[in-house]
Amino acid sequence: MEECVFCKIASGELKSEKILESDNFFAIKDINPKTKGHSLVVSKRHYQTLLDMPSSLLGEFLEMGKKLAIKLIDEEKAEGFNLIMNNYEVAGQIVPHVHMHVLPRKKGDVAPGLP
Ligand code: AMP
Ligand code: ZN
Repeated sequence: MEECVFCKIASGELKSEKILESDNFFAIKDINPKTKGHSLVVSKRHYQTLLDMPSSLLGEFLEMGKKLAIKLIDEEKAEGFNLIMNNYEVAGQIVPHVHMHVLPRKKGDVAPGLP
């Protein structure tokens, strides 16, 4: 997928600090954070949506989300977090490459579009 921004990050063509990595996923900071620390779990291989990703990777995907949430709660002194995944354009997916948002939350913070 030559035009895919997350494939370019996965291959190293586009520089982005990988804050966590597993066999099939990595985590990066979101370039346009909705809360302080907002980060993404991204698949190393290109799958458009959750429905295209093999179910054998689901455990590793969620495990990375959990590890990232623990790391961000610690770093940001957060009290909670949102896990969000947008699938297909109609649901707000802008980058058509599997990713999960992890948004650390604090009392009184403002996260556009979220409770
Ligand atoms: P969505 O496809 O709507 O679930 O969200 C895509 C997310 O990727 C947005 O929150 C963007 O800010 C983020 N994003 C887009 N390009 C980059 C990039 N090069 N590095 C980090 N985050 C990015
Ligand atoms: Zn891709």
